[in-house]
Amino acid sequence: MFSRIQWRITFLNLLFSTIIMVIVYVFLNRPSCVDGCVQQIFFISFGAFVLSAFAIGFIVRERTSKPIQQLTDVANRIADGEVNARVLPRTRDEVGEFNRSFNQMTESLTEKIVSLNEEQAQLATAVNYMADGVIITDERSYVLLINPAARKLLEANEKKSLGRSFAEVVRHHQLIDLLQRCQSSQEEQTESVEIGRDLFLQTIVTPIQENNALSYLIILQNLTPIRRLQTIRRDFISNISHELRTPLASLRAVVETLQDHALEEPELAERFLGRAEGEIDVMTQMVEELLELSKIESGQVPLKLEKTAVSSLLLNPVDRFQEMAERNEIALILDIPAQLPLVLADRPRIHQVVSNLMHNAIKFTDSGGSIKLNASLKPKRHPGMVILSVEDTGQGISNEDIPRIFERFYKSDRARTRQKGGTGLGLAICKHIVESHNGEIWVKSQEGKGSSFFFSLPQATE
Ligand code: ADP
Repeated sequence: MFSRIQWRITFLNLLFSTIIMVIVYVFLNRPSCVDGCVQQIFFISFGAFVLSAFAIGFIVRERTSKPIQQLTDVANRIADGEVNARVLPRTRDEVGEFNRSFNQMTESLTEKIVSLNEEQAQLATAVNYMADGVIITDERSYVLLINPAARKLLEANEKKSLGRSFAEVVRHHQLIDLLQRCQSSQEEQTESVEIGRDLFLQTIVTPIQENNALSYLIILQNLTPIRRLQTIRRDFISNISHELRTPLASLRAVVETLQDHALEEPELAERFLGRAEGEIDVMTQMVEELLELSKIESGQVPLKLEKTAVSSLLLNPVDRFQEMAERNEIALILDIPAQLPLVLADRPRIHQVVSNLMHNAIKFTDSGGSIKLNASLKPKRHPGMVILSVEDTGQGISNEDIPRIFERFYKSDRARTRQKGGTGLGLAICKHIVESHNGEIWVKSQEGKGSSFFFSLPQATE
């Protein structure tokens, strides 16, 4: 079967040959045509054939070579990433048909590439934003992928990790062992790995066999917060048992003494009953404070925030502790500048914070000392806040105790604190109350010189 182009070339050949033949025929039939004319005709017809050959060549170029050239250009542009490049099908022949098919193929390929790119981008985003660390290594343990979470956990840098060996990147023998175990067994391996002093990683290494290529997927799950919670819970239980054991033992001793003989001696019995009451008070206070703390932590008692004058937050606890301070020969100094902005506070709760701080200040300050209550603005360091403070000239807190005193049950000097009474919960309660007001609480102290407790409260806006 002849194609359209072949038909066209054949037709053009016939057309040009016919024209030349007609010209030759007309020339030969001219009356003036004599012998020399044959030579003329020969040259004319030769010239005409040459011209027709060029004309056919030109037409063939326009119809076949040029579109092929265009197609090659477009294919090169697509290969260079210009996926929207297309050929314009200008004819209805096979070349036009071919261009249309080429465009269709490019169209469907482009769609596939776009959807593949989208899928890949989604996958990359998921891996990049995953909270768990992800590392993929090749068969020889060279890192092919490491996501930001893994880089953060291992303090690694992407540029320096890619293409490096797993051992170089993780620098931890347990993780390296785990990968090696997975490589030799070709089975998933899971282990809890402790890195440094306070990083716990649940590590899962899985072999992946795909398209005849073997790689390893390493997932790093940060268990540190869960571990920390477990430690807090364990410490909490051990602290509470420890704190209850002492008053209970004391109560038992009192009861046993009373049972033995003290009941017969009313004076002694009264003294022992007084001691029993004291121990019961300690336990009651502890239970109450624990309940208070758990209520604040669970948000059971919502804050009733009101625009409040700072003076009204300090005066009430000062009144409460005035007598106690006088009894202990401690001077109370109140320094509240005029013109302080109002603050947003739940008044009873902040009274509780100031009371706890004042009670501690009185407990840990010897007679002759003083306690100063102050309020101020520190717009540079604490913009939008009012700072309240309770400063004493008491025994102070050691540097190693300072970071821990806001923890539940923490008492800096157990023997002395025990002597002074206290559950170790007061400052934990203060911290929770202040933080629930979006404020901060902190302490500055020097052993032997005194302690200053500060907390910030947000200014009430107009
Ligand atoms: P407690 O009920 O035992 O006072 P807190 O949580 O209020 O519990 O305080 C924790 C510990 O911080 C105290 O046991 C004490 O050792 C230390 N502390 C708190 N306030 C002061 C202070 N003003 N001066 C010295 N030590 C303090």
